[in-house]
Amino acid sequence: TKNDLVKLINNSIMKLDMTVKNKKQRLEFITKYDSLEGYFDYDRIEQVILNIISNAIKYTEERGKVEVFLEKEDNTAIIRVKDTGIGIPKEDLSRIFERFYRVDKARSRELGGTGLGLSIAKEIIEAHNGLIKIDSEVGKGTEVTIHLPLKEDNM
Ligand code: ATP
Ligand code: MG
Repeated sequence: TKNDLVKLINNSIMKLDMTVKNKKQRLEFITKYDSLEGYFDYDRIEQVILNIISNAIKYTEERGKVEVFLEKEDNTAIIRVKDTGIGIPKEDLSRIFERFYRVDKARSRELGGTGLGLSIAKEIIEAHNGLIKIDSEVGKGTEVTIHLPLKEDNM
């Protein structure tokens, strides 16, 4: 069915409001669109967005910043979630979408989670004929980019 990605992202950000406040972080949504409609599974894409933004919050220090950008190219939405967090070492980047893969097991255990978030996100995005990639620099931050086709024949 037809859904609005701006609304979805705003709702996701609202759901994470307490988590952000607890970490004294700033979470900003930057887009020129009032709405951006497309054919996608609302609940599953929301699951992806919640997951990616939760990671950005979780792996960013107190008072850090998380930015969500929404753009559009041709018939594809481009969602970027950028944080100023701990980053991911180059040698781990290629494995980050594997099920149960987590960087630094001790630290990850402390923070909680299963290591499934990104693998599920990739499955959902690929089921929509989209793509997801991750860029990161240790000590500087991480940027997750999602390309989500908006046309009717995308899934
Ligand atoms: P879950 O999402 O299942 O609760 P998780 O967050 O550990 O657990 P994923 O979301 O799959 O699992 O992420 C896998 C690993 O990638 C994380 O354990 C963490 O080491 C690393 N990671 C993911 N996102 C970030 C980020 N924004 N900054 C730094 N490291 C990240
Ligand atoms: Mg996660």
